[in-house]
Amino acid sequence: MRDLSRDFGACAINTATLGFQAPISAVIDAVARAGFGGIAPWRREIEGQDVSAVARQIREAGLTVPGYCRSTYIPAADRSDFRQNIESNRRAISTAAELGSQSFVMVVGSLPQGSKDIAAARAQVREACALLLEHGRASGVRIALEHLHPVYAADRSCLSLLSEALDHCDAIEGDVPEPWLGTCIDVYHVWWDPNLARDITRAGAGRRIFGLHVCDWLVPTEHPLNDRGMMGDGVIDIPAIRTMIEGAGYAGLVEAEIFSAENWWKRPMPEILATCRDRFASAV
Ligand code: ZN
Repeated sequence: MRDLSRDFGACAINTATLGFQAPISAVIDAVARAGFGGIAPWRREIEGQDVSAVARQIREAGLTVPGYCRSTYIPAADRSDFRQNIESNRRAISTAAELGSQSFVMVVGSLPQGSKDIAAARAQVREACALLLEHGRASGVRIALEHLHPVYAADRSCLSLLSEALDHCDAIEGDVPEPWLGTCIDVYHVWWDPNLARDITRAGAGRRIFGLHVCDWLVPTEHPLNDRGMMGDGVIDIPAIRTMIEGAGYAGLVEAEIFSAENWWKRPMPEILATCRDRFASAV
């Protein structure tokens, strides 16, 4: 396992960690100044901006972009809305390419309003993955499926298991030497899974681990989305999971992604970034 206490170049900051309290140009400067190797921006910070200028600033700061967050939810009540969702994601993948992002992070969505048919939602997701894989490959951007904890199964993601994500990858892309469809593994979503070691081994064997997100699961958790913990403050054995993932061949960036509306987002960016550095060194 890599020693992150000596190499913050292997660590990245997902900009959601900083609570969107400053424009992207200031965030890029702050992340680079703190010595991190990468930054993963969100569409809300990029869309409507001069994307090529943002891309240049990121490059000149020496930062890598491990992923661009995130997809428009896929499942829709009718085909017209489904096609609109695909188009929105195609545009975002093109932006990811312009940013030089290694991957486009897909949080897939779930039941359209009024629906109880999760199987139909899953079928739409699978169809969309095949369509977006084509555009990703043509654009030079890998498609990273981020499966979410089942607490979000009704609204944010009908894709809950790493094994399900890998099943999609295998069914759609087959066994290829350099996959363009893979997974982004977030410890928050997988730490509880009794089959985690088995599925990480499978993901690594297929070269399908495109990203690693870290934060922590607080006990008690006040809010399922916006009360994520700083690494080391909760119950996830993050070093154990990172050991498995790096043991399976993952050599990409380790990315801190902390949604914390009532705690970390209320603190100044330099404090959040300094704490991330400390915790990368001691708790990841
Ligand atoms: Zn994540």
